[in-house]
Amino acid sequence: MKLAIIIFRNNLRIDDNHCLYDACNENDYVLGLYSLELLKGEIFDFKKCDIFREKLIKESLLCLKTNLLKYDINLGIVDDIEQSLKELSGSYEITIYYDEEVGTEEKSFEKKLQKYPYKSFFSQTMIEPFVFDYKKSFSHFRNKAEKIEIQKPLDKIFRKKTIEFKSLDIKIPTVSIQNSNAIVFKGGEDEALKQLEMYLPKIHEYKSTRNEMSGFDNSTKFSAYLAIGCISPRRIYHEIKIQEEKTYKSDSSYWIYFELLWRDFFYLVMKYSENKLFLKSGIKEINYNFRKDEKSLKNFFNASTGVDLIDASINELKSSAWLSNRNRQIVASYFVKNLGLDWRIGAAFFESLLVDYNPASNYGNWAYQSHVGNDSSYRIFDIERQTQMYNGKDYINKWLNKEKSKENIDYRTMGEVVKKEVFFESE
Ligand SMILES: Cc1cc2nc3c(=O)[nH]c(=O)nc-3n(C[C@H](O)[C@H](O)[C@H](O)COP(=O)(O)OP(=O)(O)OC[C@H]3O[C@@H](n4cnc5c(N)ncnc54)[C@H](O)[C@@H]3O)c2cc1C
Repeated sequence: MKLAIIIFRNNLRIDDNHCLYDACNENDYVLGLYSLELLKGEIFDFKKCDIFREKLIKESLLCLKTNLLKYDINLGIVDDIEQSLKELSGSYEITIYYDEEVGTEEKSFEKKLQKYPYKSFFSQTMIEPFVFDYKKSFSHFRNKAEKIEIQKPLDKIFRKKTIEFKSLDIKIPTVSIQNSNAIVFKGGEDEALKQLEMYLPKIHEYKSTRNEMSGFDNSTKFSAYLAIGCISPRRIYHEIKIQEEKTYKSDSSYWIYFELLWRDFFYLVMKYSENKLFLKSGIKEINYNFRKDEKSLKNFFNASTGVDLIDASINELKSSAWLSNRNRQIVASYFVKNLGLDWRIGAAFFESLLVDYNPASNYGNWAYQSHVGNDSSYRIFDIERQTQMYNGKDYINKWLNKEKSKENIDYRTMGEVVKKEVFFESE
């Protein structure tokens, strides 16, 4: 008997899911599989997937399992994908359907799938991929990308037949959140669609609030759902277009599309540059002399750098798995351009913790802040100015328990020394 197997990874949804759609159109019997091996492993002494993201993924799996059953499709949650495929191929004539990823580990996982007849799709981006010079800036990409029409989300699927297959029990880990300012996400396609519905009336405010350091409504909060595919970027795009028709078009509603293009940009830069965004030399292919300084690393991870905004941000990240885009930029810039540390360690720290981690956006942005990515000039954030511009004092009060105000350390001079010693003397 013929059986279509859909490999769920970062496409944990029913709606606008290309491989689910094609598998259902082309087959009578359909089974979904998700392998928990994707959550395992370590990087630079950090757990690859810390508890907040594990919780988000597991909640999303439970939602997917329930929603798939509405179409009579079972989802098997397994440990070892190779073992499961071996078993299934012993009893059925299988064809595997999977979404292509861009990270190197994700690619090596795909090798295990390619041992069987398979169909793969590239559906991670809002736009259709096109070839461009991945070493150039975002503007170079955007000039071309903006001319591409974005495809409509796919039609609904119909009920199928399925087979019984073993599935591990999923236990949702308990996370304890101490700070009432923490931004918390619940996983699942249903939650992602709710978040979209909740945000649509706010699209005309986005541009003026997106840089704020605190707050839930200041930005869309789509990233965690996009990262594991509880929603598709095309669904978001098309719902924004509908909302614009109901109201009006604004610079602000355009800006959400603009930011989604940044996401596409990094996905495609990672796709075309292969493993370069994981290397110290990045896509610029320059090996800077980053410092090996255990003490400053330790202070950084313990939120004890002596710079309030940085320490507050580390506290937020460690206790909620979230940071606004502004704070991510400032923290990454500080790690590399003030402390002079190897950017890959900072990126691994984010990888471990961030609830919305995806390899392209994380390593693409870190490389950008570290002068080894798609940045066109050497820029460093002025922390005091950023604190003043984006209500940073209020943010610090929320995330730093300061009994007595101390002077921040002289990070400006540190930045000048690092620029000379780490970056420009090694060029
Ligand atoms: C050092 C660093 C690491 C980052 N790591 C990640 C990561 O692992 N995963 C991740 O999704 N984003 C990452 N970002 C990008 C960005 O910070 C988050 O996407 C954004 O803060 C998520 O909040 P939001 O959904 O409310 O974004 P919004 O401001 O509402 O933007 C809408 C969507 O556009 C996309 N987007 C916005 N800014 C960027 C950007 N700079 N790069 C790529 N896509 C963007 C996201 O998909 C986001 O959901 C990183 C940024 C930096 C500076």
